Amino acid sequence: MKEKIYLSPPDLRGNEQKLIQDVITSNWIAPLGPMLDLFEEKLLDSVNSTYAVALNSATSAIHLGLQVLGISKGDKVLCPTFTFVASVNPITYLGATPVFVDAEVDTWNVCPVLLEKAIKEEIKKGDKPKAMVLVHGYGTPAKLKEILAIVKKYDLLILEDAASALGATCDKKSVGTFGDVGVYSFNGNKIITTSGGGMLVSNNKKYIDKAKYLASQAKENTPDYQHNFIGYNYRLSNVLAAIGLAQLDVLPKFLEIRKQNYLYYKEALKEISITFLEPENNTESNYWLTCVLFESNILKEKVRLALEVENIESRSLWKPMHQQTIYNTASFYSNGISDDLFNRGLCLPSGSSLTEKQLDRVCQVILAQF
Ligand SMILES: *Cc1c(COP(=O)(O)O)cnc(C)c1O
Repeated sequence: MKEKIYLSPPDLRGNEQKLIQDVITSNWIAPLGPMLDLFEEKLLDSVNSTYAVALNSATSAIHLGLQVLGISKGDKVLCPTFTFVASVNPITYLGATPVFVDAEVDTWNVCPVLLEKAIKEEIKKGDKPKAMVLVHGYGTPAKLKEILAIVKKYDLLILEDAASALGATCDKKSVGTFGDVGVYSFNGNKIITTSGGGMLVSNNKKYIDKAKYLASQAKENTPDYQHNFIGYNYRLSNVLAAIGLAQLDVLPKFLEIRKQNYLYYKEALKEISITFLEPENNTESNYWLTCVLFESNILKEKVRLALEVENIESRSLWKPMHQQTIYNTASFYSNGISDDLFNRGLCLPSGSSLTEKQLDRVCQVILAQF
């Protein structure tokens, strides 16, 4: 069997060992401690925001983020159909209802034209959506200018799901800092990792204070065990924050390498008929995953299976939420684009530890299918 090439494996090339050793020496083996504080501070420096709370996943961060925005039972929340399920499930956790909106072809994120249509139609049906989960999928910024104008016009709250987009920017400003609250993920497959972890950021102190409180069992600051609200156990471990700190240091390097991966594929595959996901002119992607569209579903499956035979991991693009059994009866504003992306799209190996030889191996298998 040939050496396995993974889609996006962890790359612990920083100071992880040393910082973990420091944590062990300090005995802060807990979901609080100095590394956690420092990780929050450095992450805020990196994205240029003001307040942060480190959590055990981005899914938890989305859950708490929506809760501190006041989303509750019966509220409608707009979100893209073309996303990972973790963008949407927290809406359901809160007893609110997702309203799905289809994608556009430039960034594969939510379509602004359909978004406005969805808002108007939902208002006609009786109540206006209260908030939107704005996703920057695969590290590519959404059409922020158009979306923010609509959000302002209809006075919606925004949770920005930048789980996969740490390091991506729009007009030089980090995505995840345009909304009322923003979320990043440090899952094992993301651009930097703490094995599992997430961060909720905001320029509004009130939101982050509330999230911090809810994330620690909503325990009142009194000597007895007093609880006035239902809380959660969602904080990140101080041990894992040490890994996160070491990873943040190498983030600039990872951004460079992931972009190089994308450029390598673009050059090596320029003779065949495929389309790359590319950021718009005023934005920069973090190139978390290099994503491509083939001319047909048959060709995509042919390539995926040929890669699998060669022990190379690739992955279909997300199956849209309106196609999921858990969400197929929800409100959905459609233009067919997410279905088409799902049919024809593939994520290629994109890790920061990929060698040129491995990239070449992937490209040779793809080229051989044409
Ligand atoms: C990875 C991802 C999440 C979930 O992040 P976790 O840290 O694994 O909970 C949510 N939304 C998007 C768009 C993602 O890519």
